[in-house]
This record gives sequence, structure tokens and C-alpha cells, in this order.
Amino acid sequence: VAKEKGKNTHCIFSDEMNRKVSNYMWLDTNLRKAMEEQQLLLYYQPKVGMNGKVESVEALLRWRSPERGIITPQEFIPYAEESGLIAPLGKWVIETAARQAAIWQQKGLNLRIAVNLSGRQLTNGSFVSTFISAIENSGMKGCMIDFELTESYLVEDEKAAVSMINHLHKLGSEVHLDDFGTGYSSLSQLARIPLDCIKLDQSFIRGINHNPVSQALVRAIVAVARTLQLTVVAEGVETVEEERLVNEIGVDSIQGFLYAKPMPAEELEHWLAQKNLLHPMV
Ligand code: C2E
Ligand code: MG
Ligand code: MG
Ligand code: MG
Repeated sequence: VAKEKGKNTHCIFSDEMNRKVSNYMWLDTNLRKAMEEQQLLLYYQPKVGMNGKVESVEALLRWRSPERGIITPQEFIPYAEESGLIAPLGKWVIETAARQAAIWQQKGLNLRIAVNLSGRQLTNGSFVSTFISAIENSGMKGCMIDFELTESYLVEDEKAAVSMINHLHKLGSEVHLDDFGTGYSSLSQLARIPLDCIKLDQSFIRGINHNPVSQALVRAIVAVARTLQLTVVAEGVETVEEERLVNEIGVDSIQGFLYAKPMPAEELEHWLAQKNLLHPMV
């Protein structure tokens, strides 16, 4: 029986390996092509403040593949990180977001854009110079680009992370901690790292209205954030009950399907105009 089982296990394992390898080969050929052939695009999801206005959006990468349709970042970012393609990909994202911010400024829209960064992009030494040229070449007035980092990057090398964050601040960017509560960082670590904002992970928000443990955790996190002068975003708000609860606890802004899904730039402009949600130019 053991022998039998061993054989089966072996078979299943190699099937899975085969699938993984062939998917990687497909990604390897096609992601490079996607960058050259303009199959990549950024979607934007608004963050709605307590005054009901939108001051900033998150840029979320999409791949429109002629062969496979829309491919989500979860399907190709991990591969891009492993293969090193994350460097050119990340460069494309930053340049595109900076250009979009400039276009919005020209249209009189005062929207900051938050760009997701993976740790692998930051350990590669050219990140800051890439960002500086993107700012210069975009035509953007000032700097409208902020960054979202995850806890795993912060805990890996806290000293390097702090110096990177200080550098980004000097360039005019805010730094937000993404998916907070899912990684290994601690509340005490928040006090040592000069962040501007924490984004509460969706797992705390989902069904928070009937989950007293999540409620208590979110209240505690918001209290610590207040003391540290960090703003708090609730991610993944899908229902009015969740919205009511996070409002009552006192987060600063809300991002989630309840308000809007991520969408192409022009669709976002229409959405903002329709709802009259845009924060007035100052
Ligand atoms: P994230 O940065 O935490 O982005 C939030 C994700 O939650 C997005 O998924 C968004 O579409 C989704 N979301 C927003 N509101 C709701 C909601 O109410 N309910 C539910 N169920 N989901 C919601 P998406 O666009 O598939 O992105 C997944 C992840 O891929 C992102 O998570 C981010 O870690 C990564 N990613 C996306 N774009 C980039 C990029 O340009 N560079 C890098 N390095 N990573 C990226
Ligand atoms: Mg994010
Ligand atoms: Mg997130
Ligand atoms: Mg996430």
C-alpha cells in the first residue's frame, strides 16, 4: 500500500510540477511581449475620505492578454519577482502612474496615486533613480505618487526600509503599509518606522459587523495609529454594515467594492464626475 501510495504521490507531484513549469514558460515568453506590445494597463480604485471626497486612488496592474483575457497581478507578480522581470515591470508602473497624475493635473483633477511596490523592487539599487526620472519625464507638478509597501519588506531589513522611506519622503511621496495585520510586523515596530498610513487588511474588515474580535483589534490598531499620527485606511469594504462599523471606529478613509472596483482612468473620471466625489483643487 505504501508503495502504491508513493507512486501516486510521485505522479501527482510531477503533474503539478509540469503545470507549474509550463505556466512559467508561458509567462516568461508572454510577459516580456506584454510589456513591449502594450498589453499592460493600470486600473485605479478610489479611496473615499470621511468628508466623502476622493483625494487619492490606488494603481492596480492588469494584463490584457490576447490569448488569456484579463490576467490579475496575483497570477504574474510572483513570477515577475522570481524572474527579475519585476524591475522593468515596476518601472513601467511608476512611469505610467506619474504620466497619469500629470494628465489629471492638466484636467484639473487633484488626485494622488498610490503605487504598490514589492520588496524585490527596492533591493535592486536603481529604484530611486528610476523614480526620479519618472517624476522628471512625466510633466507632473510636484510629486503626486505615494507608495504601498508590505510588512514582509519592513521586517526583512528595518534599517534599509527606514532609510528608503526617508528618501521617498524627501522626494514628496507618502509611504503606506499595505495589508496591515497579515504579516509579521508588530505594533511596536510601527513606532520605529516613519510611515504615513496603514491599510487595514481586508481580512479584518470582512464581516467585522458581526465579529467582536476583529472589532476589538481594529479599535486597538486605530488607537495606536492615532498616537503615532498615522492615518488609517480600511481595505475591502463591501457592505454598508462594514462601512458603518469602520466609520464608527474612526478610520480616515475607505477603499472597497461598496464604493467602486478598480477601473481604467477614463472610467474613474466619469465615476468621480457622476458622484461629485472629487476633492476640490486647493
Ligand atoms: P493590494 O495592494 O492589497 O490591492 C488590493 C486588492 O484588493 C486589489 O486586488 C483590489 O482589486 C482588491 N479589492 C479592493 N477592494 C476590494 C473589496 O471590497 N473586496 C475584495 N474582495 N477585493 C477588493 P488586485 O487588483 O487583484 O491586486 C492584488 C495584489 O496584487 C495587490 O494587493 C498588490 O499586492 C499586487 N499588485 C497589484 N498591482 C501591483 C503593482 O503594480 N506592483 C506590484 N508589485 N504589486 C501589485
Ligand atoms: Mg496595495
Ligand atoms: Mg492591500
Ligand atoms: Mg493584498
